[in-house]
Amino acid sequence: MLPDLVKKQIQSAYSKFLENKNLKPRFGQKMMIAEIAKTFGSIELDEENVREISGKPGNHICVVEAGTGTGKTIAYLLPALAIAKYMGKKLVVSTATVALQEQIVSKDLPELLRHSDLSFTFSLAKGRGRYLCLSKLDNVLAEYESGLNPTRALYEDEMPSVTAQGVKLYQSMMDALASNKWSGERDTWPQALEQDEWQIITTDHRQCTGRRCSNVSSCSFFKARDSLHSVDCIVTNHDLVLADLALGGGAILPDPKDTLYIFDEGHHLPQKALSHFAHHSRVTSTSKWLDQCNKSLGAILGHISGAGNVDRYAEQLPAAFIDCKQQLDQLYPLLESLVQTILLDDRQSNYRFKNGVIPQSLLLPAVELQRSFDRLTDLLSKMCNELTEAMEDPHCPVPKIDLENNYPVIGTWQSRAEAIRELWASYAVPDVASSVPKARWLTPVDTSGNIDIEVCSSPILASKTLEYSLWEKCCGAVITSATLTALGNFQRFQMRAGTPDNANYQVVPSPFNFAQATLEIPAFAVDASNADVHTISLIDHLPKLLDKKEGSLVLFSSRRQMQEVYDEMPDTIRDLILIQGDSSKQEMLTQHKRKIDDGEGSILFGLASFAEGVDLPGDYCRHVIIAKLPFAVPDDPIESALSEWVESRGGNPFMDITVPDASLKLVQACGRLLRTETDTGKISLLDRRILTKRYGKAILNSLPPFTHVVHK
Ligand code: SF4
Repeated sequence: MLPDLVKKQIQSAYSKFLENKNLKPRFGQKMMIAEIAKTFGSIELDEENVREISGKPGNHICVVEAGTGTGKTIAYLLPALAIAKYMGKKLVVSTATVALQEQIVSKDLPELLRHSDLSFTFSLAKGRGRYLCLSKLDNVLAEYESGLNPTRALYEDEMPSVTAQGVKLYQSMMDALASNKWSGERDTWPQALEQDEWQIITTDHRQCTGRRCSNVSSCSFFKARDSLHSVDCIVTNHDLVLADLALGGGAILPDPKDTLYIFDEGHHLPQKALSHFAHHSRVTSTSKWLDQCNKSLGAILGHISGAGNVDRYAEQLPAAFIDCKQQLDQLYPLLESLVQTILLDDRQSNYRFKNGVIPQSLLLPAVELQRSFDRLTDLLSKMCNELTEAMEDPHCPVPKIDLENNYPVIGTWQSRAEAIRELWASYAVPDVASSVPKARWLTPVDTSGNIDIEVCSSPILASKTLEYSLWEKCCGAVITSATLTALGNFQRFQMRAGTPDNANYQVVPSPFNFAQATLEIPAFAVDASNADVHTISLIDHLPKLLDKKEGSLVLFSSRRQMQEVYDEMPDTIRDLILIQGDSSKQEMLTQHKRKIDDGEGSILFGLASFAEGVDLPGDYCRHVIIAKLPFAVPDDPIESALSEWVESRGGNPFMDITVPDASLKLVQACGRLLRTETDTGKISLLDRRILTKRYGKAILNSLPPFTHVVHK
């Protein structure tokens, strides 16, 4: 139980915040503060300040659906900051997008600090790839000056080359660092940086020599990481939390047992977790890479030979490279024959193994490949260890600069070999009959006229992984988003995220009056399952439906249909349309707003990415047109494998997965219309199935209570 002192602190901080900001209390916001305080307040800690596993596992977790306008950031920050401090825990706030992360760090937290009586410190944690590696920057400049480029030559196929313009940029970065005008963080560099320019001077954990590096005391990544230990609240992203959990937790961020987590935009967490534990590797390009490594080995040894036992392991490497390469080359014809079956079929972009079960003819090579890449990884890892130890050995005959310059090459090889080993391990180990199977598939990839084959595998649900690595281990967690329920319940989210049954599930009422918007299914709307008839209907009726003077958003489920409709629009309409793909999403939104600000009409044509996270309040969007019920693409190998598994257990994949998914996506799409309490407008759904199909009624009922205008 929370002591009265902490409860009063939360109440007083909220009142002060509202008073200073001249705001009124909102019912949903108050409810969310209370539910989070109740959940975190029920956590009991033992003498070592670790959560007691009580009789009710899962009651340390709160899942809150809170719509736009709730003020949910303040609603979770306020109680969580106070309680984390009282419990002696760190608060980790994780988001899916950079935009929300920036809003929390540059607006919400500073405002809370200024306008409430809470005192706390906070910091932003980003992945290593967002920071400059000073050693790499040093090397690039030194190599360019000397006219040599020995290390870079070894990366040839993986690394872009350094241009004279690039060197100018790198020199200005070095100057900015030296004069303390830049921290080395990519996002704070005054101009946008191309990925190719940045990739050359950033690093990953395998290439970094860590505390042994000569530049570690000035290293921007380590400076930022060290500052995390001293703050009360760390703002980060789902990927970094998942990367930390994959390393066992507590490697990058604080230990989960010492952490209260908030996952905002929490509906993205299961998907992010899936991609984190997925593996893929291309057969032909890997074979070429192995060949290239073997050829480069001699040059590298020219620089590091004599360091510790490096030579002992290096002399075994050529055989290991050749062994892996030969096995992949031998396997290619078998994989090629499998993908042949789908190459002529336009509707299929991959060959999926039914139920995730691979044929015996592939299983044996997979076992051998796992073994061979295991051996290669082991040798490379031993070489890395020898190099790091040699860096600390004052008697090492090899200059430290050579060790530091070549370590990243071996480190990169090691991490690529490890990733390939993981892929083949996921093929070599058959699924246990009682467990959820993996999705396994092959994707043919056209590489300048030749077909390479990408071998892929992924879990179909992240629930177990999140359960073991996160929910069971953490001290407490809140998962929140505007859309967590589907068809009015949390079952879909629970199945995908693995949150416990005993968690505190809440839907916070929205402050919006949804009757300010109408939802129309016009009489001309046809059944969208017949794509051609549906497209013709859109071409015929959209010109009449669209108001040329207002801001509209038209959402399509298929790029092809979007383009066909666009091409057939009369010029007077087409001139007003900004279509996805012509410029970046950000650029389109900026142009759209500018046109509306200038009193012109503007129409956005977009796909799924415009149905979420697009904020167009007031006149920027008075009409949302949804072309089709947003059912998932049937070709997605993970979703197909999940459906297959549900079916094999006697479930109905369409009703259990497809319909709830579509319902959730439709709520998100409709959510583009009302962005503030004063917004008004119309949603037109141009798919008759919502009226004629049995599932349509369930989907319709799960939408917010708009004024329904159904034209039969
Ligand atoms: S510590 Fe790692 S990231 Fe930092 S400069 Fe050295 S090698 Fe680069």
